Amino acid sequence: MNKEKTIKRIAIIGAGPSALFVCNYFINSIHTNFEIHVFEKTNTLGAGMPYSKLGANSEHIANVSANEIPQLITTVKEWVRIASPELLQRFHINPLDFNEYEVLPRLFLGEYLSAQFQLLLEIAHKKSIPVYVHLNHTVVDISDKPDKSEVLIETDRSGIQSFDTCIICTGHYWPEKEEGKIPGYYNSPYPPSKLLFKADHPVAIRGSSLTAIDVIRTMSRTHGNFSETSNGHITYTISDENKNFRIVLHSSNGMLPAIRIHFEEPQAANHNPLTPEIVAQNRMQNNGFLSLDFVFDIAFKKPLEDSDPAFYERIQHMNMETFVHTMMHSRELQDPFILFEKEYYEAQKSIHHQVPIYWKEMLAALSFAMNYPAKYFSAEDMKRLQDTLSEIISIVIAFIPQSSARVLLALHAAGILDIIDVDAKSYVEPIKSGGIQYHYSDEHHSSASVFYHTYIDAVGQKKLSLEDFPFKTLFKENTISQARLKFQDSKAGEKELAEGNKKIEKDPDGFYYLKVSGIKINDNFQIVNNAGIANKRIYIMAVPYISGYNPDYSGLDFCDKASQLISKHFFSEKDQ
Ligand SMILES: Cc1cc2nc3c(=O)[nH]c(=O)nc-3n(C[C@H](O)[C@H](O)[C@H](O)COP(=O)(O)OP(=O)(O)OC[C@H]3O[C@@H](n4cnc5c(N)ncnc54)[C@H](O)[C@@H]3O)c2cc1C
Repeated sequence: MNKEKTIKRIAIIGAGPSALFVCNYFINSIHTNFEIHVFEKTNTLGAGMPYSKLGANSEHIANVSANEIPQLITTVKEWVRIASPELLQRFHINPLDFNEYEVLPRLFLGEYLSAQFQLLLEIAHKKSIPVYVHLNHTVVDISDKPDKSEVLIETDRSGIQSFDTCIICTGHYWPEKEEGKIPGYYNSPYPPSKLLFKADHPVAIRGSSLTAIDVIRTMSRTHGNFSETSNGHITYTISDENKNFRIVLHSSNGMLPAIRIHFEEPQAANHNPLTPEIVAQNRMQNNGFLSLDFVFDIAFKKPLEDSDPAFYERIQHMNMETFVHTMMHSRELQDPFILFEKEYYEAQKSIHHQVPIYWKEMLAALSFAMNYPAKYFSAEDMKRLQDTLSEIISIVIAFIPQSSARVLLALHAAGILDIIDVDAKSYVEPIKSGGIQYHYSDEHHSSASVFYHTYIDAVGQKKLSLEDFPFKTLFKENTISQARLKFQDSKAGEKELAEGNKKIEKDPDGFYYLKVSGIKINDNFQIVNNAGIANKRIYIMAVPYISGYNPDYSGLDFCDKASQLISKHFFSEKDQ
């Protein structure tokens, strides 16, 4: 049979950036024997959550510049020349002096992504590839039918339909547990339009990174005014009617995120030395496990030898733990806002003179590089990663935009913004009648219990569990399975199990495993069942549900890379 003539029906669930990049790889491939159905629960195509009203207001800025966006149909620089004048005016963008090194407003980026999706639909039309976009269609369930080689998609509007392949691109999810039941309690700051109220009292924020900054940017605007001084600094004046408004960040390390610098390489993927061959070779030498020490050496230390020999000399004999300890210790010794201001000027210099700060750039590259093969780490290495490297990576690669840094410094100088270092056992007690009691020990080990009328959980996207998976039939029929990693040394697993660690499992074969968040996937982003068999029909790239095997929540570069791997696998299978 001529397989090229068989039309494969592909369902894409969600129409955010992931779906856009998937469609880009499929539609721009050499193949045409498929049709795509995109199901999106909102009425927006391409923008997804962070770049639409669901996740942004006009004050929210992306942490990537135009030149760092992976290739789509037209670059942002090309697109601004054809974008509507009303749109450009709304975002104060002049196509004649457009600077592709500058970060973009998130809603503007959303408009660009939507426009790219429309251009892609035109290309599909010219190539006679049918693409059906079903806006305002929520997919409520998915089930796999291996005996019929089909996957059934159920939507709230059009019942059940059969497909050959399904790609789950449902993206971010913010469960609302207390929100709506406890006055003043917010499980997330999204959509940010809900934060446009006034509070004449201190507001407690959990977290101090990008999500917290989204809250700060929105709430500071409603409660006062920023003005620019002649030397480019900004100052903040609080409004008379809410003189008692403050923002108190609660952070488990008491640190503020690092600031955006100039990158030598706009795409982290271009730094990646961890080719599939190198990963396979290391696993062969290491009983099937990928060694974290090897990854740290080859994807972080080694490239610094050439790019920043002085820094390399400082760290060349350090293992991962010593490196993290040294860097974190030097941050801990400094007041977070003084360090923040110092890093702001350092970052400004880096951008102004286009000089990278190599170790920070390489840390971002390391985080990107180890994302894909992290599923091959031993349980021991994953625990080391979670306990050490993950923390510094999350601080450094937040790369907050310069304008956000200026806002934070102005608010702190005005006495509106502060940060409290809370211990790992700190917790938030919701109060039924409204507000919360924040219980913690601070950096001086003194216990505190503070009442706040308003509380916003801003630690970012939570890693969701197997039980949180939205498409219940896949869960009930064991089509999906718990992600876990094997202990290299069974005795270590045995000891942890005996100590009561609930994340440890012992299999009948006598091996011990560490459960990590979400579901099992393979290198092609196919879902994998309990028996370790990859599903031929269902792929997933929704980050909250695959974070155990894909620990770095990277952005548009992740969408691009995962889409490329999925399309490559899809076409290689089909052609067999
Ligand atoms: C607040 C925030 C800011 C960020 N800023 C940046 C940044 O500046 N730079 C960067 O590179 N990355 C950033 N990121 C990372 C971000 O994860 C990715 O850039 C991108 O949003 C991922 O796209 P996605 O399509 O997978 O998910 P999403 O953007 O969440 O899109 C998923 C889509 O699926 C739809 N959907 C969900 N469930 C269903 C269903 N059951 N049926 C039908 N449709 C459904 C949703 O409505 C949505 O349109 C940010 C993330 C957040 C949360």
